[in-house]
Amino acid sequence: MSNVYKDQRGYLRYKSTNRLVHREVMRNHLGRRLTAKEVVHHKDEDKLHNHISNLRLFKSQFWHNLHHKFKWNVTDPVVDFVFRLLKVTFIATSAVAVFYLLLKFS
Ligand SMILES: [Zn+2]
Repeated sequence: MSNVYKDQRGYLRYKSTNRLVHREVMRNHLGRRLTAKEVVHHKDEDKLHNHISNLRLFKSQFWHNLHHKFKWNVTDPVVDFVFRLLKVTFIATSAVAVFYLLLKFS
């Protein structure tokens, strides 16, 4: 007797709680609850392979979709860093532009 069953979408769920196994494995690994936005992805695309080494957490469906589309294998800290860099660059460029306009029209 197994304590899990396969749901209509092919994911394993615990019979007792009806919760998705892969999300519970990630939850136990992180030691916190997952937010509704967070997506747990199966690296080898096998929905039945729920070992933590085969799972990856994405912040949202957006990043998950991006990964599937482009097989973009950068880690979240790298993505965070690039976006922070872009933001800083944008703010700095805007500041210079404003400063230039102030000088020009004063
Ligand atoms: Zn996926």
